[in-house]
Amino acid sequence: MKELESFEVPRYVVFGPDAAGKLPEVLAKIGARKIAVVTGPTASRRIAESIVDRCRDVDVEMVGEDYVETPVKGDAVVAIGGGRPIDIAKILAFLNKKPLIVIPTSASHDGIASPYISYVLGKKLSKYGKIAVAPMAILADTKIIMGAPPRLLRAGIGDLLGKRISVRDWALANRVKGEPYSEYAAILAKASYSIAAANAERISGFRREEDVRVLVKALIGCGVAMGIAGTSRPCSGSEHLFAHAVELYAEENGLREVIHGELVALGAVVMSYLYGINWRGLKATMRKAGLPTRLKEAGIDRDIAVHALTTAHKLRPDRYTILGESGLSKEAAERALEDTGLA
Ligand code: ZN
Repeated sequence: MKELESFEVPRYVVFGPDAAGKLPEVLAKIGARKIAVVTGPTASRRIAESIVDRCRDVDVEMVGEDYVETPVKGDAVVAIGGGRPIDIAKILAFLNKKPLIVIPTSASHDGIASPYISYVLGKKLSKYGKIAVAPMAILADTKIIMGAPPRLLRAGIGDLLGKRISVRDWALANRVKGEPYSEYAAILAKASYSIAAANAERISGFRREEDVRVLVKALIGCGVAMGIAGTSRPCSGSEHLFAHAVELYAEENGLREVIHGELVALGAVVMSYLYGINWRGLKATMRKAGLPTRLKEAGIDRDIAVHALTTAHKLRPDRYTILGESGLSKEAAERALEDTGLA
């Protein structure tokens, strides 16, 4: 018998200036009268307050981003913020079996539309590391997102530039390990990469509404690719393992200022080198996008990068990549960093 395939993708996606103003309409459509709003402590909280002020007939419970275990009373969970509030909202929506609505205040990674929480948080809250909940609605308000720090938006381009490697790793795992592979999901993820690569220079100033729109659409496309695949595989391969290894190190050693999308792009340079594909072209694109092309510009040194490259293969042992099962040797890691000019 053939296996059943099923997938979850968002039902309402709205892009553009004042997309957040559609919240009352979306809540009415799904019949939600009470909502729990998860938001961050400062800037995103102010944005959240101004959005919920416009939801006149709705009861609102504001929830901080550290709130995980307690049940929420609302009919829906609404995330208004960047990475962490969205991750916490995914957990709450999952635990309380409520629909999730995401209003991103930045666009620095593809978690805004994916069903999964970030690797580092999943590691910390290991009970929830494997949850999957696709947002029912995404309201990508480009006017709000334009207010995010440009470095974070450029990091969004970096996250997208990694998809050339993640898709390649997935196809490799399919050939080497027989891992299930979805052509549709792979093509969607690759399309997001191509759009980012082709537009990187033009949009990287993020001064025009349409620049943000290109970025957000491509990031949401990745979220949909993960929903179709039923795994983050199409959007997260060895380039992400490198980024996660640095992020874990940073978390454990109190290193601030490492930015996910920047690390993903740097990881993609090394992995392109290992695959023998055009890493020089990727670096040129990163430079045009204003992304770091040297480790120290991303706030890490050579030792941290070598540590990350030699340990990355252990983070998700079930996920076969170009790093293989035994990973890179110290010598190979040093040579890759040197040859690509990252160190
Ligand atoms: Zn990512």
